[in-house]
Amino acid sequence: MAKLQHDNELIFRVAIALPVYRLFDYLAPDNIEMTAIKPGVRLEVPFGNAKKIAFLVECVEQSDIAIGKLKRVERILDQKPLLSVKDVALLHWASRYYHHPLGEVFSAAFPAALRQGKSTLMQTEKRYALTETGKGLASEQLKRSPKQKSVLEKFQIHANSLSEAELSAWNQNWRNAAKQLLDKGLLQFAAAEPGINSREPIVRNDALHCNPQQQAAIDAVSGRLGQFGVFLLEGVTGSGKTEVYMQIIRTVLERGQQVLVLLPEITLTPQLEERFRQRFTVSIALSHSKLTDRQRSSAWLNMQRGQCAILLGTRSALFTPLKNPGLIILDEEHDASFKQQEGFRFSARDVAVVRAKLLNIPVLLGSATPALESLHNVDNKRYRLLHLPERAGNATAPLLQLLDIRNKRMQEGLSEALVAEMHKTLAKNEQVLLFLNRRGFAPTLICHGCGWVARCRRCDANLVIHRDEGILRCHHCAQEQRLIGQCPACKTGELTPLGLGTERVEKVLAELFADKTIVRLDRDSTQRKGALENYLQRINQGEVDIILGTQMLAKGHHFPNVTLVAILDVDSGLFSIDFHAPEKLAQMIVQVSGRAGRAEKPGRVIMQTRQPEHPLLTTLISRGYSSFARTALAERKDASLPPFSYQALLRVQAADAEMPKRFLDAVVKLGQQHSKEHTHILGPVAAPMARRAGLYRYQLLFQSSRRPELHALLDVLMPKIEKLKQANKVRWSLDVDPVDLY
Ligand code: ADP
Ligand code: ZN
Ligand code: ZN
Repeated sequence: MAKLQHDNELIFRVAIALPVYRLFDYLAPDNIEMTAIKPGVRLEVPFGNAKKIAFLVECVEQSDIAIGKLKRVERILDQKPLLSVKDVALLHWASRYYHHPLGEVFSAAFPAALRQGKSTLMQTEKRYALTETGKGLASEQLKRSPKQKSVLEKFQIHANSLSEAELSAWNQNWRNAAKQLLDKGLLQFAAAEPGINSREPIVRNDALHCNPQQQAAIDAVSGRLGQFGVFLLEGVTGSGKTEVYMQIIRTVLERGQQVLVLLPEITLTPQLEERFRQRFTVSIALSHSKLTDRQRSSAWLNMQRGQCAILLGTRSALFTPLKNPGLIILDEEHDASFKQQEGFRFSARDVAVVRAKLLNIPVLLGSATPALESLHNVDNKRYRLLHLPERAGNATAPLLQLLDIRNKRMQEGLSEALVAEMHKTLAKNEQVLLFLNRRGFAPTLICHGCGWVARCRRCDANLVIHRDEGILRCHHCAQEQRLIGQCPACKTGELTPLGLGTERVEKVLAELFADKTIVRLDRDSTQRKGALENYLQRINQGEVDIILGTQMLAKGHHFPNVTLVAILDVDSGLFSIDFHAPEKLAQMIVQVSGRAGRAEKPGRVIMQTRQPEHPLLTTLISRGYSSFARTALAERKDASLPPFSYQALLRVQAADAEMPKRFLDAVVKLGQQHSKEHTHILGPVAAPMARRAGLYRYQLLFQSSRRPELHALLDVLMPKIEKLKQANKVRWSLDVDPVDLY
């Protein structure tokens, strides 16, 4: 189509957060200084009957649309783009690589308030600090007002000032107590802490004396500041990775640069934050989903303006602009939550590497159980491996053991041998941690008379029994119904719970260990705000004897007095159809083990299994995670699976049972017209869960031994897929480098 020339009219080509690949053209606003307008600025544009926020992509002189039909930009929201030229380039790259619409990618880079067009002129947040009297007061004197006591203690631990956002992130109910402390003259308002480029000393207390491996890791990264490089710090839990981070961060801060630290879990930020605050005097910003929109914008802008030196955040904080970037750290880099699983499905780890390359800074990935992809990148010399083989200080590594439970008498998932070990541990006043990755009372309700099973009406799944709440709940669509007492099919049979959930194990523990305190940590028991924090505090104060929980326990929390860890049902992880499953199981086992015996007390890990000779388990136990990973990588290579090939998964769902397959058949046909030598299109097949929340689901897998070829094919296909006539009758999404095939 011929381009239409528009005399003297400049056209803004913009991206809008919509699930379409195209960009939109608008006439430039009247009376503006054009030279000042740079790509990346936020605009307000008319769209249909509404207004939308748009991001300027480029200024052009021609449009495919007649000038009379173009609408005019209403407002320019930013005088200067909030993102740097390099960060804008990163978003373009991410949009191309993930084949995701640019407008939605831009939108993901901004905190909600700014993406909705709010002004950047935020109110400055109040900060608080102790007065001299406050510093000297023994907190015991406030024991009759526990809230004030705990706020006072929070400040006494920090020894510096805290902002409203930081306090809210710590505890939602700080305000009243703080007001009372202000009235008592124990607390005062404080000035902002030094950002970057300040002359204040950066470090508050002394670093630890590092062992040679830690020092080698610190030197390797510190020697590369100002250059791109990817470092993989592999070290078991307790090997001193965080100490390594902190010493490198110090050097970065001394250069007047900022550090972005990404963590997989919100619940882990307070622990790291605490350690950072004890070490550094600089101001630290936080960004995660438990904060309010305003707090997140404020963190984002503080980094953008250089008013904060360190940002601690989860996946979505990756795109936060940095005035003077120095280093990116991703802790627990193997964790699946670094991959966004809906909408813009990016991998924060992979995008962090690209961002570091564009910014010309190093990126440091840390884990006790690195992802197979990352180890493969070490083999390829793309990443450099830094190894911390031992626990730091005096702590010893936990001992892993298999407990053969074949033909053994079991009581609700607990073997007699395990119960005996638990008694021994508890008798020494040490804590026991039990891991079972299934919440609820039991995963299945079955009729003993006729075999009827309680199924979800909207999913291909059984309803899970939640006996405490008296309901049956689907874990896939959240559908609930009352727990029934009588079989709806035969009306006479006895309904029996089948299988084990944490709730059920908790019941039997209460009987077997009647005089002990038991805490259950799973999504159900920690729903109340502050509940998890409260449990963790009780555990660390030694008020709890037995901790029972789901994968929530596998992540980062330190339980120094736990000396016995038991994985109740390791076998359920051994037989998945997803090729990622062995890797995830091994990581889970090692991560759970890492909770044991952190301090001077050695820990033990017992895994109950009916597969004591399974090679995954025996390799992991006798030779460790690295050996397991080598074996697993060799298997992936033989099977030409990632990271030895590249995948993209097209997922489709619709209320109509036929539509998803018909749509994918059309995609396959399109694909065959552009087929490539090294790229295979596998499917369509029904998704492993063929129906979910009332929608029928199908998928198509693209797999290639050549990444550029795969992407070339997707480049051609995606815009065509969008225009297929079936496309608006289904919901579809592309997942590049999927981490699971569900
Ligand atoms: P990781 O992040 O790998 O789990 P941490 O950095 O949290 O490990 O270290 C675990 C524990 O060991 C912490 O209590 C830490 O203070 C301590 N530690 C770290 N490095 C050293 C060292 N070089 N000497 C003594 N103790 C250390
Ligand atoms: Zn029945
Ligand atoms: Zn359901």
